[in-house]
Amino acid sequence: MIRTYTMRLKPTKRQQVKLNDLLEHLCVLYNSALEHRKRSWEQLGKPVMYYDQQRALTDFRGKSLEVFSFPLTIQRDPLRRIDRAFKAFFRRVKAGEKPGYPRFKTKTSYNSFNVAERFSVNGSCLKIARLGNFRFKTKCKVKGSFKTINIARRGNRWIANLVCDIGEAPAKRPVSNAVGIDLGVTTLATLSDGTEIANPRWIKREEGRLAEAQRVLARKTKGSKNQAKAKERVRRVYQRIVGSRNAYTTTVAKKLIGQYDLIAHEKLNIKAMAQYGYLGKSIMDAAWGKLIWRLNCEAEKAGKWVIPVNPRNTTKACSGCGELVPKTLSQRTHCCPSCGLVLGRDHNAAVNILRLGESLVERQKICLEGIAN
Ligand SMILES: [Zn+2]
Repeated sequence: MIRTYTMRLKPTKRQQVKLNDLLEHLCVLYNSALEHRKRSWEQLGKPVMYYDQQRALTDFRGKSLEVFSFPLTIQRDPLRRIDRAFKAFFRRVKAGEKPGYPRFKTKTSYNSFNVAERFSVNGSCLKIARLGNFRFKTKCKVKGSFKTINIARRGNRWIANLVCDIGEAPAKRPVSNAVGIDLGVTTLATLSDGTEIANPRWIKREEGRLAEAQRVLARKTKGSKNQAKAKERVRRVYQRIVGSRNAYTTTVAKKLIGQYDLIAHEKLNIKAMAQYGYLGKSIMDAAWGKLIWRLNCEAEKAGKWVIPVNPRNTTKACSGCGELVPKTLSQRTHCCPSCGLVLGRDHNAAVNILRLGESLVERQKICLEGIAN
């Protein structure tokens, strides 16, 4: 089971300068690696592979003392990144999509790097070979075997994401109580027992603040110091939204997983959601995605089930008799003309989702038993 610990690094002034220098250097490497691939293809018709670039980097290090001063293991990161970008590009071309060609980065858009080897964590100190020891802040104790660490710059803060393997996940538990959840716009979610999980008020409040900060930013002269300040303000508001959203969805997910053995939810369809045209759409979309993601994390830890179901007809179908009852977006109650059932619109959908989820688990279990026999 993979777990990611997020912690805030506390680099000293000197370390901050060092990290900023490193990022700038990695950005240059990234852009030259991209240029190398592009030119080689355009002028010679030859593709360049990751190992070609790794060799070129080693040569380059021998020629320049400045390049040599940065750790090689970290310098390989932008090369891997370019390699992944190209692989994804060609995969999408093959699949008949229209992907964008990998783009050059600017000093401000290149904000993170991965360290895959030669680092360790000791108490509240992160040690990266040839880069230094960084103090960090975290609430929980880090355990498991370390895989990689990602260091990211967020404005003037530094965040580390430490990926650890914490051993086998617990076996899935038998289901004794299950729930279906319907994700909504007016409430965050409605459960199949009729409970509503409210949208926290901060969404509305922060939306207003975000709009205001963006208005201020739009009035500033491009490239000016004031624009940089306004940008930082917009970023802060965003960060606060993300922070409170994460805290809220974590609480909701933990509570649900503590209460139920199986949680069925509708499979998220981002394209369909965009059609809502709802003002705080992006905020809501992210909250749904985050909640589902959190539910999956917590379920894996506790050996419980989180099942995505096909959302087709879950709103229309009557949970009492199965009759399809069409509704407009504004119709908030489900009234069935054939069996007379009257239920909240989202409540009815949640019951349908629960039923679909249960049947999926049943089928999966039969499959597993079939393999065992
Ligand atoms: Zn009915």
